[in-house]
Amino acid sequence: MPHVLVLVDHDGDRVNKSTYELLAAARRLGDPAAVVVGTPGTAARLGRSLARHGATSVHAAESTEAAEFLVTPAVDALELAVRETSPAAVLVSATTDGREAAARLAARLDAGLLIDAVDLDSSGVVTQIVFGGSYTVRSQATHGIPVITVRPGAFEPEEHPGEAVERTLTLPGVDPGTSARITARRAAPAGDRPGLTEATVVVSGGRGVGGTDGFKVVEELADALGGAVGASRAAVDAGYYPHQFQVGQTGKSVSAQLYIALGISGAIQHLAGMQTSKTIVAVNKDPEAPILDLADYSVVGDLFEVAPQLTQEVAAR
Ligand code: FAD
Repeated sequence: MPHVLVLVDHDGDRVNKSTYELLAAARRLGDPAAVVVGTPGTAARLGRSLARHGATSVHAAESTEAAEFLVTPAVDALELAVRETSPAAVLVSATTDGREAAARLAARLDAGLLIDAVDLDSSGVVTQIVFGGSYTVRSQATHGIPVITVRPGAFEPEEHPGEAVERTLTLPGVDPGTSARITARRAAPAGDRPGLTEATVVVSGGRGVGGTDGFKVVEELADALGGAVGASRAAVDAGYYPHQFQVGQTGKSVSAQLYIALGISGAIQHLAGMQTSKTIVAVNKDPEAPILDLADYSVVGDLFEVAPQLTQEVAAR
């Protein structure tokens, strides 16, 4: 059975859900082998939950400076693991850091890069949504070991308990002259909300929300559903909500189980980041808004009347 390298996304103590999704995707191609990059002791903390989700080996790439530099240690670790173990493929989450790591790795390996996969079959053919969501294509790397970024939410995490063999990768020292050092980290979103790309439910607000205060109705519905809050670019550009929550072509891509769009018209650049969500609900007062064509459930009405009723209904259950 070939093995497939998976770059583990984590916060030092906890594995992010997107990694469990990668492990499920990797199992379609072979035995998942997790690569953990972090400070000493990280792989030991995360090993058990990785094994429970199907990792048959855990490669620990640990150093005291691993958490201090952006992307470079992950690329070094993956390159080492590829050269030492010749995997069938490398899977990385299509997050901001993951995309950069994958592109750098593919360049170093002179290998094919397949981005933003939403499906993957056992022969290595991936399904991608491209050109801002205009086309769905199936692609396969024709050169080298495929490096594939996978859209968070596109695969269901699966429990597949077993034992994982531990291995050690010795990271080279990071060259500070050619690597970006992390000097500050943005504070995590307030409260207990899940991260946007981790969440199974996303409630997003657009320009129709009308302002920062208007986003309270979006947050209240998200909290009632245990979901994350997203925003359209128009809402972000207008300063209603921070940029880190932008969904779309130039923001984050989500494949939620449930995506609720409040006061969002449905421009193609927004759809590019959310249209692979399983169930889409749109609330818009314009019956001609393009998002209503995509939505599974549409409500034509004022979001300030509809969203609080939804929140109340959910909270009552
Ligand atoms: P609008 O298009 O202004 O729509 C607001 C909607 O709210 C309208 O449909 C209106 O009927 C409705 N509404 C108003 N009041 C209410 C109410 N009280 N109740 C219910 N409905 C109401 N956009 C993104 O979102 N993400 C991206 O990543 C992104 N990247 C881009 C990249 C490029 C290169 C370009 C050119 C554009 C990009 N855009 C992106 C912008 C995109 O083209 C749209 O301008 C943007 O998505 C519009 O946001 P919106 O739907 O919130 O605003």
